[in-house]
Amino acid sequence: MKLPDGLIQVADGLHLWAPGYTGTWGFANCLLIVSGEEAALVDTPYDQAMTEALMGAAETVLPGAVRTIVNTHVNGDHTFGNGCFPDAEIIATKASAEHLCHEPSPQQMHFLTHQTPADQPLGWYARRHFGRYRYEGVESVPPTVTFSGRYELTVGDIAAELIEVGPAHSAGDLVVHFPDRGVVCAGDVLFAGDHPVHWNGPLGNVIAACETILALDPEVVVPGHGAVMSREDVRCYVTYHRELEALIRARHAGGLSADEAAADILAGGFRDHLGLPERVVILTAVEYRHLDGDTGEPDLVALAARAAEWAYRHRGEDVLD
Ligand SMILES: [Zn+2]
Repeated sequence: MKLPDGLIQVADGLHLWAPGYTGTWGFANCLLIVSGEEAALVDTPYDQAMTEALMGAAETVLPGAVRTIVNTHVNGDHTFGNGCFPDAEIIATKASAEHLCHEPSPQQMHFLTHQTPADQPLGWYARRHFGRYRYEGVESVPPTVTFSGRYELTVGDIAAELIEVGPAHSAGDLVVHFPDRGVVCAGDVLFAGDHPVHWNGPLGNVIAACETILALDPEVVVPGHGAVMSREDVRCYVTYHRELEALIRARHAGGLSADEAAADILAGGFRDHLGLPERVVILTAVEYRHLDGDTGEPDLVALAARAAEWAYRHRGEDVLD
Protein backbone atom coordinates (compact mmCIF):
# COMPACT_ATOMS: atom_id res chain seq x y z
CA MET A 1 0.00 0.00 0.00
CA LYS A 2 1.64 3.22 -1.15
CA LEU A 3 0.34 6.44 0.35
CA PRO A 4 0.67 9.75 -1.50
CA ASP A 5 3.82 11.71 -0.72
CA GLY A 6 2.38 14.90 -2.17
CA LEU A 7 -0.77 16.99 -2.13
CA ILE A 8 -3.01 18.01 -5.04
CA GLN A 9 -3.79 21.71 -5.15
CA VAL A 10 -7.50 22.03 -6.00
CA ALA A 11 -7.60 25.84 -5.57
CA ASP A 12 -5.48 28.58 -4.03
CA GLY A 13 -4.83 27.50 -0.43
CA LEU A 14 -6.76 24.22 -0.74
CA HIS A 15 -4.63 21.09 -0.89
CA LEU A 16 -6.06 17.59 -1.22
CA TRP A 17 -4.47 14.51 0.31
CA ALA A 18 -6.03 11.76 -1.78
CA PRO A 19 -4.98 8.19 -0.92
CA GLY A 20 -6.60 7.29 -4.23
CA TYR A 21 -7.51 3.64 -3.70
CA THR A 22 -10.94 2.52 -4.80
CA GLY A 23 -12.33 -1.01 -4.60
CA THR A 24 -11.79 -1.14 -0.86
CA TRP A 25 -12.72 0.70 2.35
CA GLY A 26 -11.04 3.33 4.50
CA PHE A 27 -8.99 5.49 2.12
CA ALA A 28 -10.74 8.80 2.71
CA ASN A 29 -9.78 12.14 1.19
CA CYS A 30 -8.54 14.91 3.51
CA LEU A 31 -8.44 18.59 2.53
CA LEU A 32 -5.86 20.93 3.97
CA ILE A 33 -6.75 24.65 4.13
CA VAL A 34 -3.74 26.97 4.33
CA SER A 35 -3.72 30.76 4.40
CA GLY A 36 -1.04 33.03 5.88
CA GLU A 37 0.01 31.55 9.20
CA GLU A 38 -3.16 29.51 9.64
CA ALA A 39 -4.02 25.94 8.70
CA ALA A 40 -7.08 23.72 9.07
CA LEU A 41 -7.86 20.18 7.98
CA VAL A 42 -11.14 18.71 6.75
CA ASP A 43 -11.23 15.08 7.99
CA THR A 44 -8.39 13.04 9.44
CA PRO A 45 -7.13 9.63 8.18
CA TYR A 46 -8.03 6.21 9.58
CA ASP A 47 -4.90 5.52 11.61
CA GLN A 48 -1.70 7.07 12.88
CA ALA A 49 0.55 5.85 10.04
CA MET A 50 -1.76 7.41 7.46
CA THR A 51 -1.98 10.65 9.45
CA GLU A 52 1.82 10.78 9.59
CA ALA A 53 1.95 10.25 5.82
CA LEU A 54 -0.49 13.12 5.36
CA MET A 55 1.50 15.44 7.60
CA GLY A 56 4.72 14.46 5.82
CA ALA A 57 3.13 15.31 2.46
CA ALA A 58 1.85 18.60 3.92
CA GLU A 59 5.22 19.76 5.25
CA THR A 60 6.02 22.00 2.30
CA VAL A 61 2.76 23.98 2.49
CA LEU A 62 2.10 24.04 6.25
CA PRO A 63 2.99 27.31 8.00
CA GLY A 64 2.78 25.70 11.46
CA ALA A 65 0.48 23.48 13.47
CA VAL A 66 -3.02 22.56 12.29
CA ARG A 67 -5.25 24.36 14.80
CA THR A 68 -8.66 23.44 13.42
CA ILE A 69 -10.13 20.10 12.32
CA VAL A 70 -13.49 19.78 10.60
CA ASN A 71 -15.08 16.33 10.62
CA THR A 72 -17.59 15.98 7.76
CA HIS A 73 -19.13 13.10 9.77
CA VAL A 74 -17.98 10.73 12.49
CA ASN A 75 -17.14 7.48 10.63
CA GLY A 76 -13.71 6.35 11.83
CA ASP A 77 -12.07 6.68 8.41
CA HIS A 78 -12.66 10.45 8.70
CA THR A 79 -11.99 10.91 12.44
CA PHE A 80 -9.62 8.32 13.94
CA GLY A 81 -6.67 10.63 13.15
CA ASN A 82 -8.18 13.38 15.35
CA GLY A 83 -6.02 12.22 18.27
CA CYS A 84 -2.87 13.17 16.34
CA PHE A 85 -3.87 16.85 16.76
CA PRO A 86 -4.25 17.15 20.55
CA ASP A 87 -4.37 20.97 20.63
CA ALA A 88 -6.78 21.44 17.74
CA GLU A 89 -10.37 22.56 17.89
CA ILE A 90 -12.55 19.85 16.31
CA ILE A 91 -15.74 21.02 14.62
CA ALA A 92 -18.66 18.76 13.65
CA THR A 93 -22.44 18.92 13.66
CA LYS A 94 -24.33 18.46 16.91
CA ALA A 95 -26.09 15.45 15.31
CA SER A 96 -22.69 13.85 14.59
CA ALA A 97 -21.59 14.32 18.20
CA GLU A 98 -24.83 12.80 19.46
CA HIS A 99 -24.44 9.71 17.27
CA LEU A 100 -20.75 9.12 17.92
CA CYS A 101 -21.57 6.38 20.44
CA HIS A 102 -23.17 4.29 17.66
CA GLU A 103 -19.96 4.21 15.59
CA PRO A 104 -17.73 1.13 15.78
CA SER A 105 -14.87 2.08 18.14
CA PRO A 106 -11.18 1.48 17.30
CA GLN A 107 -11.30 -1.40 19.81
CA GLN A 108 -14.25 -2.97 17.98
CA MET A 109 -12.46 -2.56 14.65
CA HIS A 110 -9.39 -4.26 16.10
CA PHE A 111 -11.59 -7.11 17.34
CA LEU A 112 -13.33 -7.45 13.95
CA THR A 113 -10.05 -7.62 12.06
CA HIS A 114 -8.20 -9.93 14.48
CA GLN A 115 -10.56 -11.99 16.61
CA THR A 116 -13.44 -12.95 14.34
CA PRO A 117 -13.21 -16.30 12.47
CA ALA A 118 -11.20 -15.62 9.29
CA ASP A 119 -13.06 -18.33 7.36
CA GLN A 120 -16.51 -16.82 8.02
CA PRO A 121 -17.94 -14.01 5.86
CA LEU A 122 -17.61 -11.11 8.35
CA GLY A 123 -14.13 -12.08 9.55
CA TRP A 124 -12.97 -12.67 5.98
CA TYR A 125 -14.41 -9.35 4.81
CA ALA A 126 -13.11 -7.34 7.78
CA ARG A 127 -9.55 -8.64 7.29
CA ARG A 128 -9.70 -8.09 3.55
CA HIS A 129 -10.86 -4.46 3.67
CA PHE A 130 -9.85 -3.22 7.15
CA GLY A 131 -6.96 -5.48 8.14
CA ARG A 132 -4.35 -3.07 6.74
CA TYR A 133 -5.13 -0.37 9.34
CA ARG A 134 -3.77 -0.26 12.88
CA TYR A 135 -6.51 0.42 15.41
CA GLU A 136 -4.45 -0.42 18.49
CA GLY A 137 -3.79 2.70 20.56
CA VAL A 138 -6.26 4.82 18.55
CA GLU A 139 -8.60 6.89 20.71
CA SER A 140 -11.91 8.11 19.34
CA VAL A 141 -11.71 11.88 19.92
CA PRO A 142 -15.08 13.68 19.90
CA PRO A 143 -15.68 17.19 18.49
CA THR A 144 -14.99 20.17 20.75
CA VAL A 145 -17.27 22.57 18.84
CA THR A 146 -20.68 21.56 17.48
CA PHE A 147 -23.39 23.37 15.53
CA SER A 148 -26.66 22.83 13.72
CA GLY A 149 -27.51 24.39 10.36
CA ARG A 150 -24.59 26.54 9.25
CA TYR A 151 -21.24 27.59 10.70
CA GLU A 152 -18.85 30.21 9.34
CA LEU A 153 -15.16 29.30 9.53
CA THR A 154 -12.31 31.59 8.49
CA VAL A 155 -8.77 30.29 7.95
CA GLY A 156 -6.45 33.23 7.27
CA ASP A 157 -8.28 34.98 4.45
CA ILE A 158 -10.14 31.88 3.24
CA ALA A 159 -13.84 31.81 4.07
CA ALA A 160 -15.46 28.42 4.56
CA GLU A 161 -19.10 27.76 5.19
CA LEU A 162 -19.98 24.50 6.93
CA ILE A 163 -23.45 23.40 5.83
CA GLU A 164 -25.30 20.62 7.60
CA VAL A 165 -26.81 18.28 4.97
CA GLY A 166 -27.57 15.25 7.17
CA PRO A 167 -29.11 13.00 8.00
CA ALA A 168 -28.04 11.41 4.70
CA HIS A 169 -24.88 9.28 4.56
CA SER A 170 -24.78 9.46 8.36
CA ALA A 171 -26.88 11.17 11.02
CA GLY A 172 -24.85 14.38 11.02
CA ASP A 173 -23.21 15.04 7.64
CA LEU A 174 -21.82 18.44 6.75
CA VAL A 175 -20.25 19.77 3.55
CA VAL A 176 -17.64 22.52 3.41
CA HIS A 177 -18.23 25.28 0.86
CA PHE A 178 -15.45 27.66 -0.16
CA PRO A 179 -17.42 30.40 -1.94
CA ASP A 180 -14.31 32.33 -3.07
CA ARG A 181 -12.68 29.20 -4.47
CA GLY A 182 -15.60 27.46 -6.21
CA VAL A 183 -14.94 24.30 -4.20
CA VAL A 184 -17.16 22.04 -2.10
CA CYS A 185 -15.70 19.32 0.09
CA ALA A 186 -18.54 16.84 0.43
CA GLY A 187 -17.45 14.04 2.78
CA ASP A 188 -19.22 10.71 2.26
CA VAL A 189 -22.38 12.19 0.84
CA LEU A 190 -20.34 11.58 -2.35
CA PHE A 191 -18.22 8.63 -3.48
CA ALA A 192 -16.36 8.34 -6.80
CA GLY A 193 -15.30 5.06 -8.43
CA ASP A 194 -17.15 2.66 -6.13
CA HIS A 195 -20.74 2.08 -5.19
CA PRO A 196 -21.47 4.47 -2.31
CA VAL A 197 -22.41 3.34 1.17
CA HIS A 198 -24.92 5.20 3.31
CA TRP A 199 -25.75 4.18 6.86
CA ASN A 200 -28.57 6.56 7.68
CA GLY A 201 -30.51 7.40 4.51
CA PRO A 202 -33.02 7.38 3.08
CA LEU A 203 -31.57 7.71 -0.43
CA GLY A 204 -33.86 10.72 -0.95
CA ASN A 205 -31.87 12.58 1.72
CA VAL A 206 -28.61 11.83 -0.11
CA ILE A 207 -30.18 13.19 -3.31
CA ALA A 208 -31.27 16.33 -1.42
CA ALA A 209 -27.73 16.77 -0.06
CA CYS A 210 -26.33 16.48 -3.61
CA GLU A 211 -28.83 19.09 -4.79
CA THR A 212 -27.67 21.43 -2.02
CA ILE A 213 -24.12 20.97 -3.36
CA LEU A 214 -25.18 21.58 -6.97
CA ALA A 215 -27.04 24.75 -5.94
CA LEU A 216 -23.70 26.15 -4.72
CA ASP A 217 -22.51 25.84 -8.35
CA PRO A 218 -18.98 24.60 -7.54
CA GLU A 219 -16.22 24.12 -10.12
CA VAL A 220 -14.61 21.35 -8.09
CA VAL A 221 -16.27 18.87 -5.76
CA VAL A 222 -14.13 16.74 -3.45
CA PRO A 223 -15.90 13.46 -2.57
CA GLY A 224 -15.25 11.54 0.63
CA HIS A 225 -13.50 8.82 -1.38
CA GLY A 226 -12.14 8.69 -4.92
CA ALA A 227 -11.23 11.24 -7.56
CA VAL A 228 -12.31 14.89 -7.62
CA MET A 229 -15.69 15.40 -9.31
CA SER A 230 -17.35 17.94 -11.61
CA ARG A 231 -20.94 19.17 -11.36
CA GLU A 232 -21.80 16.71 -14.15
CA ASP A 233 -20.32 13.85 -12.11
CA VAL A 234 -22.54 14.90 -9.20
CA ARG A 235 -25.59 14.93 -11.48
CA CYS A 236 -24.76 11.35 -12.64
CA TYR A 237 -24.43 10.37 -8.99
CA VAL A 238 -27.90 11.77 -8.30
CA THR A 239 -29.24 9.66 -11.21
CA TYR A 240 -27.60 6.56 -9.68
CA HIS A 241 -29.50 7.20 -6.45
CA ARG A 242 -32.82 7.91 -8.17
CA GLU A 243 -32.58 4.70 -10.21
CA LEU A 244 -31.56 2.59 -7.22
CA GLU A 245 -34.34 4.09 -5.10
CA ALA A 246 -36.90 3.06 -7.76
CA LEU A 247 -35.45 -0.47 -8.06
CA ILE A 248 -35.58 -0.94 -4.28
CA ARG A 249 -39.10 0.45 -3.92
CA ALA A 250 -40.45 -1.83 -6.65
CA ARG A 251 -39.03 -4.89 -4.90
CA HIS A 252 -40.26 -3.73 -1.50
CA ALA A 253 -43.76 -3.33 -2.96
CA GLY A 254 -43.40 -6.80 -4.51
CA GLY A 255 -42.82 -8.42 -1.13
CA LEU A 256 -39.12 -9.31 -1.47
CA SER A 257 -36.93 -9.21 1.64
CA ALA A 258 -34.20 -6.56 1.65
CA ASP A 259 -31.46 -9.12 0.98
CA GLU A 260 -33.49 -10.74 -1.82
CA ALA A 261 -34.08 -7.30 -3.34
CA ALA A 262 -30.38 -6.40 -3.23
CA ALA A 263 -29.35 -9.77 -4.70
CA ASP A 264 -31.88 -9.31 -7.50
CA ILE A 265 -30.72 -5.74 -8.26
CA LEU A 266 -27.08 -6.87 -8.35
CA ALA A 267 -27.91 -9.90 -10.51
CA GLY A 268 -29.41 -7.42 -12.98
CA GLY A 269 -25.99 -5.75 -13.32
CA PHE A 270 -26.84 -2.40 -11.72
CA ARG A 271 -23.81 -0.11 -12.35
CA ASP A 272 -21.53 -3.16 -12.46
CA HIS A 273 -18.53 -1.08 -13.58
CA LEU A 274 -18.28 0.30 -10.02
CA GLY A 275 -16.31 -1.30 -7.19
CA LEU A 276 -17.74 -2.81 -3.99
CA PRO A 277 -21.11 -4.00 -5.36
CA GLU A 278 -21.92 -5.54 -1.96
CA ARG A 279 -22.60 -2.02 -0.70
CA VAL A 280 -25.92 -2.24 -2.57
CA VAL A 281 -26.92 -4.76 0.12
CA ILE A 282 -26.40 -2.04 2.76
CA LEU A 283 -28.14 0.66 0.72
CA THR A 284 -31.12 -1.63 0.20
CA ALA A 285 -31.33 -2.59 3.88
CA VAL A 286 -31.16 1.08 4.91
CA GLU A 287 -33.87 2.06 2.41
CA TYR A 288 -36.07 -0.80 3.63
CA ARG A 289 -35.75 0.46 7.21
CA HIS A 290 -37.27 3.78 6.11
CA LEU A 291 -39.94 2.11 3.96
CA ASP A 292 -40.86 -0.06 6.97
CA GLY A 293 -40.95 2.92 9.33
CA ASP A 294 -38.13 1.57 11.51
CA THR A 295 -36.82 4.58 13.45
CA GLY A 296 -34.21 2.73 15.53
CA GLU A 297 -30.47 3.37 15.22
CA PRO A 298 -28.78 1.59 12.29
CA ASP A 299 -26.35 -1.13 13.42
CA LEU A 300 -23.29 -0.54 11.23
CA VAL A 301 -21.58 -3.85 11.97
CA ALA A 302 -24.79 -5.83 11.34
CA LEU A 303 -25.23 -4.00 8.02
CA ALA A 304 -21.61 -4.66 7.04
CA ALA A 305 -22.11 -8.34 7.95
CA ARG A 306 -24.97 -8.58 5.45
CA ALA A 307 -22.79 -7.05 2.72
CA ALA A 308 -20.00 -9.46 3.70
CA GLU A 309 -22.35 -12.42 3.20
CA TRP A 310 -23.04 -11.32 -0.38
CA ALA A 311 -19.36 -10.61 -1.08
CA TYR A 312 -18.34 -13.99 0.37
CA ARG A 313 -20.77 -15.80 -1.92
CA HIS A 314 -19.37 -13.88 -4.93
CA ARG A 315 -15.68 -13.93 -3.95
CA GLY A 316 -13.31 -14.51 -6.82
CA GLU A 317 -15.21 -12.09 -9.06
CA ASP A 318 -13.59 -8.80 -8.05
CA VAL A 319 -10.29 -7.15 -8.71
CA LEU A 320 -8.66 -7.85 -5.32
CA ASP A 321 -8.64 -11.62 -5.99
ZN1 LIG B 1 -15.55 7.37 4.45
